[in-house]
Amino acid sequence: MSLKTLSTYLLKAKSSQNHVSRLFSLHKLSDEHLMLQKTCKDFVEAELKPIAAQLDKEHKFPAEQIKKMGELGLLSINVDEKWGGAGQDMLSTAVAVEEIARGCGGSGTIVSVHNCLYVNLLNRCGTDKQKEQFLKPFTSGTLGCFALSEPDAGSDVGGMSTTAVLDGDNYILNGTKSWVTSGTEGKAAIVFATIDKSLKHRGITGFIIPMPTAGLSLGKLEDKLGIRASPTCNLILEDVKVPKENLLGRPGEGFKIAMQQLDKARVGIAAQALGIAQAALEVAVAYAGQRKAFGQPINQLQAVKLRLADMALKLESARLLVWRAAALCDQPERSTKGSSMAKLAASEAATFVSHSAIQILGGMGYVSDMPAERHYRDARITEIYAGINDIQRLLIGDLIVKEYE
Ligand SMILES: Cc1cc2nc3c(=O)[nH]c(=O)nc-3n(C[C@H](O)[C@H](O)[C@H](O)COP(=O)(O)OP(=O)(O)OC[C@H]3O[C@@H](n4cnc5c(N)ncnc54)[C@H](O)[C@@H]3O)c2cc1C
Repeated sequence: MSLKTLSTYLLKAKSSQNHVSRLFSLHKLSDEHLMLQKTCKDFVEAELKPIAAQLDKEHKFPAEQIKKMGELGLLSINVDEKWGGAGQDMLSTAVAVEEIARGCGGSGTIVSVHNCLYVNLLNRCGTDKQKEQFLKPFTSGTLGCFALSEPDAGSDVGGMSTTAVLDGDNYILNGTKSWVTSGTEGKAAIVFATIDKSLKHRGITGFIIPMPTAGLSLGKLEDKLGIRASPTCNLILEDVKVPKENLLGRPGEGFKIAMQQLDKARVGIAAQALGIAQAALEVAVAYAGQRKAFGQPINQLQAVKLRLADMALKLESARLLVWRAAALCDQPERSTKGSSMAKLAASEAATFVSHSAIQILGGMGYVSDMPAERHYRDARITEIYAGINDIQRLLIGDLIVKEYE
């Protein structure tokens, strides 16, 4: 069942339930989320899992699978139906991204970034005209990008140096944006630049730029440790002319817009981390059931059982934080603490679980005949992007101090 068909069914079901009951109970997803999970699982088992190792080895973008996910409605989960989206909640996005990342970590990145940092951002902040041009055509397979980071400004967003100078009815943009997910494949990018560097954060402004555009070129494709199905490159802007009507929000609002959106993006990345961790746990459990040592399957050895217990504990506790953070994202208030906690817990769980999976597989964990080493490489990025984990700790710490003042 496609997600759009599913959303029609859910709309009917929704009218007889209140919002809270649609979220999740502490032990189980709602029937609607379970249906979505099954749709994604079926797709992943048939279309992504069998090719994930090859995509990784060849650094190959999964063009055909992205197209199919677009048709299923998985590239506009949290976008209003009016604009061609599936009209689902953030928990649906988290459930879908987890499943996709369980099949292929790199595809998890592509889907998470497109949903949480492109279409949802336009759905939230774009004008109707912008939505017609840059949202509607991007709900079913065409990808968009989000370009905030720069070579000299990652965590320190306020230090960005890409400039936007007003010239009549256009802004002229110059600078380099780095680490742009789907940069080579995207057909539009939300680019952040400063209209006045002396204003620091308050000078940052968002622009929507179609791709290709005169003056916008792509840097080299990054050769990454993991998530290799997801292409990453620089965007180089040389006198790129952007009409005023392509401003996202008002001049100087870009920092606020980006940070609000990162609350959602962190849930998307946390869900990706859960998927990678789940895949690593599944490999470890299966291997421990069939590998024999000292005359018995190694899953009968206490040391292996203890390791599996720690892996499952970290994963399942992180999942609860992610589901809660997703539910909080749909509330009107900002949910920075919940999102940062979810991202921190899930990314560290992914690193821990995938590291432990390699240990359980022994030598077989270290070679590419088995997927454990890929999960380990894929997991590592989740501690870095959408705000590195040190920054998540600082955000949580600041909020805790304020909460108890
Ligand atoms: C594969 C990949 C895909 C990405 N996709 C995108 C994308 O689509 N769009 C986008 O805009 N960006 C993207 N990024 C960028 C990503 O968000 C940044 O890499 C990340 O925010 C960290 O920034 P940085 O790499 O400049 O590290 P830095 O900010 O230079 O950090 C380096 C070190 O300094 C520490 N540090 C920095 N500041 C502090 C502080 N105040 N307190 C304590 N420690 C600190 C960090 O924790 C880290 O250990 C991507 C990155 C990668 C690798």
